[in-house]
Amino acid sequence: MQITEIYKSIQGESTYAGLPCVFVRLTGCNLRCVWCDSEYTFHGGRRMTSEEILAEVERLSPSGGLVEITGGEPMLQERELVPLMQLLLDLGYTVLLETSGERPLEAVPKGVVKIVDVKCPNSGEADTFRMENLETLRLQDEVKFVLTDRLDYEFARDFVAQHKLGQHVNAVLFSPAFSKEASGERTAAQCLLDPQELAEWIVADNVPARLSLQIHKFIWDPAMKGV
Ligand code: SF4
Repeated sequence: MQITEIYKSIQGESTYAGLPCVFVRLTGCNLRCVWCDSEYTFHGGRRMTSEEILAEVERLSPSGGLVEITGGEPMLQERELVPLMQLLLDLGYTVLLETSGERPLEAVPKGVVKIVDVKCPNSGEADTFRMENLETLRLQDEVKFVLTDRLDYEFARDFVAQHKLGQHVNAVLFSPAFSKEASGERTAAQCLLDPQELAEWIVADNVPARLSLQIHKFIWDPAMKGV
């Protein structure tokens, strides 16, 4: 598999935010979201076998715990990734899969917690969500919308209502996009959408969504990689 990095840090997003986690970041993405903070994963990386990846995960977290498979878009390497995720589950790890929602997800092992994006209008990748993926969602899974403004918010709010997402998954995440040029200052002023404004909209509309901040951008310099 083509791997950009494997490291251990604090999970920054989702309902698992705040927990220690090993990140396995796969190289390559077929989308180009305008606010993407992972452009360094588009190219490069190094070839690693599943055995080498497993050995590194076990070295970083020998007594189990959380492993996030992320990218890039990890499901572009589905053929090798699916057996690897099953192996991690068999070893007792809790496995999270961060995916853009554009790739088919039927083959993801049932025990994996899927965190699936639905790209909003201002992402530059609107309409890439594969609607068939709604059928693959389980109660353990999470659906994430990255938002830049009111237009994105209304799209997300209406999508959640139309598909009754609140009833089908563990969490619906509304996350303000973070400026990809941000560095140094670790404040909400670096968000493209003010979290306070988003909170007020969610409350006003009673949306069954969780406001999700990328806490790693508030713990470390937002420009820092590998955290
Ligand atoms: S899908 Fe993820 S990795 Fe790919 S461009 Fe969008 S934000 Fe970046």
